[in-house]
Amino acid sequence: MTTKRDYYEVLGIDRNATDEDIKKAFRKLAFQHHPDRNNDAGATDKFKEINQAYEVLSSPDKRATYDRFGHVGDDGGMGQGFGGFGGFGDIFDAFFGGMNTTAGRQGPRQGGSLQTSVILTLEEVAFGCDKEIKISRIENCSVCRGTGSKPGSQPVRCPTCNGSGQVRRVQQGFFGRFVNVTPCDRCNGEGQVITEPCPQCRGSGREKFNRTLTINIPCGVDNGSQLRLTGEGDAGTRGGPSGDLYLNISVRRHEIFIREGDNIFYDLDINFAQAALGDEVEVPTLDGQSMIKIPAGTQTGKLFHMKDKGVGRLRSGGRGDEIVRLKVTTPEKLTKEQKKLFEELAQSLGTKKQKK
Ligand SMILES: [Zn+2]
Ligand SMILES: [Zn+2]
Repeated sequence: MTTKRDYYEVLGIDRNATDEDIKKAFRKLAFQHHPDRNNDAGATDKFKEINQAYEVLSSPDKRATYDRFGHVGDDGGMGQGFGGFGGFGDIFDAFFGGMNTTAGRQGPRQGGSLQTSVILTLEEVAFGCDKEIKISRIENCSVCRGTGSKPGSQPVRCPTCNGSGQVRRVQQGFFGRFVNVTPCDRCNGEGQVITEPCPQCRGSGREKFNRTLTINIPCGVDNGSQLRLTGEGDAGTRGGPSGDLYLNISVRRHEIFIREGDNIFYDLDINFAQAALGDEVEVPTLDGQSMIKIPAGTQTGKLFHMKDKGVGRLRSGGRGDEIVRLKVTTPEKLTKEQKKLFEELAQSLGTKKQKK
């Protein structure tokens, strides 16, 4: 391992240089020594050295460590030692406004994400369910398995870029003339071209399929919940992973229950006599009919909690409650006999004088 030059020396600045001095020195040197402009032997190494020095000195933390300890380790990569210096293209791009100096053969790319929606009943989300949903997505072609070539034929090296996947063009940039490297148009940066396209996908390697997926819906999801199904989106290209499928959930309004979080509410009407004397009545639940006991002297608005009769909880397990809201209803029409009885009651309660 060769001895490393002092970073301040590399950038031609002194130890008291300000951040602005460092930046200026780096820009000037990076411009001079960028391999696309400078064909001297050793320009690339020089450029790397400049970047390494800048990487350290432009970060207050790294600079402080460097000032105290000098070069740490002898792996030849101060940057590596401090983690996260990915290659000189990154910093260069940041300075020179996104000039693409690192274009090359295009690597694997993740497939697109898809979105679809499903409408569920309260019962389905209370207990969880398996739901079939239909989607249309791009997968690898069933005939060529994604290669794009007719089975039995092979792609050949792209004559335009000679297989490199990139084309170099001289361009006028902010700091002068640059060689701009872009992905090859002819082969789309793949470095090879298909001579005999697959008849099924016409060379794209991709095909649209209508699929029916069975999705396990966990209990407790609500209106507006979104489930992410990893890898159920469009297929990736060049061996990249598939995208994801996002399932948006709507829950249909229930005829008799109103959901609030994990609890459900049920409104139960009872008459005066039941409220005054008490009663045992049947109420519907998500699990079927159930009995509740109304004590004598119950007022309207009274709530009865039926434990664990609500919606299953998404994360913590268990279930919410069913809450029965009592409403004492006033009869609108009375039979003759009922009227007589109410009058007697009124007299007994002392609120009404007997009519003559
Ligand atoms: Zn095909
Ligand atoms: Zn090409």
